[in-house]
Amino acid sequence: MSTHVTHWIGGKPHPGGAAERRGDIHNPATGEVTGTVALAGPAEVDTAVAAARAAFPAWRDASLAQRAAVLFRFRELVHRHSGELAAIISAEHGKVVSDAAGEVARGLEVVEFACGIPHLLKGAFSENVSTRVDAYSIPQPLGVVAAVTPFNFPAMVPMWMFPVAIACGNTVVLKPSEKDPSAAVRLAELWAEAGLPDGVFNVVHGDREAVEALLVHPDVKAVSFVGSTPIARHVYATAAAHGKRVQALGGAKNHMLVLADADLDTAADAAVSAAYGSAGERCMAVSAVVAVEAVADDLLERITERVRRLRVGPGDDERSEMGPLVTREHRDRVAAYLEAGVREGATLAIDGRVHPVLGGGGAGFWLGPSLLDRVTPEMSCYTDEIFGPVLSMLRVPDLDAGLRLINANPYGNGTAVFTADGAAARRFQNEVEVGMVGINVPIPVPMAYYSFGGWKDSLFGDSHMHGVEGVRFYTRTKAVTARWRPGAGEAAGSRVDLGFPSGG
Ligand code: NAD
Repeated sequence: MSTHVTHWIGGKPHPGGAAERRGDIHNPATGEVTGTVALAGPAEVDTAVAAARAAFPAWRDASLAQRAAVLFRFRELVHRHSGELAAIISAEHGKVVSDAAGEVARGLEVVEFACGIPHLLKGAFSENVSTRVDAYSIPQPLGVVAAVTPFNFPAMVPMWMFPVAIACGNTVVLKPSEKDPSAAVRLAELWAEAGLPDGVFNVVHGDREAVEALLVHPDVKAVSFVGSTPIARHVYATAAAHGKRVQALGGAKNHMLVLADADLDTAADAAVSAAYGSAGERCMAVSAVVAVEAVADDLLERITERVRRLRVGPGDDERSEMGPLVTREHRDRVAAYLEAGVREGATLAIDGRVHPVLGGGGAGFWLGPSLLDRVTPEMSCYTDEIFGPVLSMLRVPDLDAGLRLINANPYGNGTAVFTADGAAARRFQNEVEVGMVGINVPIPVPMAYYSFGGWKDSLFGDSHMHGVEGVRFYTRTKAVTARWRPGAGEAAGSRVDLGFPSGG
């Protein structure tokens, strides 16, 4: 059955204009077109921003207790519908249902964090900064904020943004990926059911055209973006040039350094899980395993053994551990790195093109887990973000060389070290130029009460997402200085004074 996914504006579905463009939605496991999605132009974006702007004054003034109550109800609804959301994600993205359920659970953690908004929005107060003068700060919402998100986490990445933005009193226009747009609409329906006033959360679907309209819209006060590095850089520059606050998270090349004293079975389990989970389409996927030469061959053997046993198949088949890639073009692009790697001197130790697919695979966008060994830093499979199930193995003599290699890479999203040596791990944690670090943990996605974000070309802007940095991003501080004189009759003490005010 083919469905058409429409925008969600002002608390209800919005049909879009008569001349609106449409995009296809695929089931990546079969290759079939399963639906279409509306692609907004400036007119639809304008309608959504106007709805968000109209909803702002009342939502800004809703009490903290009212906002928290809506968030608690939304938390319960997402929790209750997490199985349904996981199935929606899996059908359009291709990832296995259990993995999709994991992303919903990680998104829910941010909603739970945002339920504590009354505590998070406390300002500061200083009594008697001058005689009978007090000073205090009030964190206030920004207004309409835009969220632009990637295909690989259609529920979790939007949930890094909008629960905190809404809890802080902002209104939101979300532009999810056009490749898997349905989860965002389901989340909008759940917000409405939770009692969120119309217009506080809006969804416009679309591609570049919709994003450009948001980036230059005068009523959009801030932009949160997650996607690839070239687009993140563009979003940052354009939105900032139009006077907006911006956080733009980009791509990644995450290294996992395995030292000679590491438990190699643990390291092999971690490398395989982090490289091939979600077919490598995770911003925190390990895409480069960096092994100290002394243990490299042994580690490779253990990885190969595990990869051979991986069950690749449709996301809704319970036996599947890894699904297809998101589109045919992306699968072809990822597969091309296998040939390029060999051409440039790497060894194709595991060729995913011959990995069996449960049910045969048909015309789906399949590529099995692959590994290129003896990769060197100038090869394209290393310099480029592949974003698929292709792990590169690099060999280094020791910790120093491993750190040098990782720090020379332009990306700085996530990294991990596997070792039994606490001093080596501590040195790695201290010296590595990467925003999120795992020590014997392969995908170190911070909990909601810490903040998520990389360094270098993995993030443009100053703030990471969710946690206290998220609250800071979605608020601006007003500093108030107040004097209350005693009642009439005692009011002496007021006089003209052209001097610059100071305490005393
Ligand atoms: P993408 O950059 O192609 O798209 C991201 C968003 O930008 C989508 O909503 C898309 O519609 C929009 N977009 C695409 N082209 C645009 C253009 N020219 N101008 C304006 N907007 C445009 O990314 P993707 O393929 O959807 O997602 C995968 C990428 O996201 C990978 O690079 C991955 O590393 C990155 N990612 C990063 C993080 C992180 O936290 N750093 C998390 C998830 C994904």
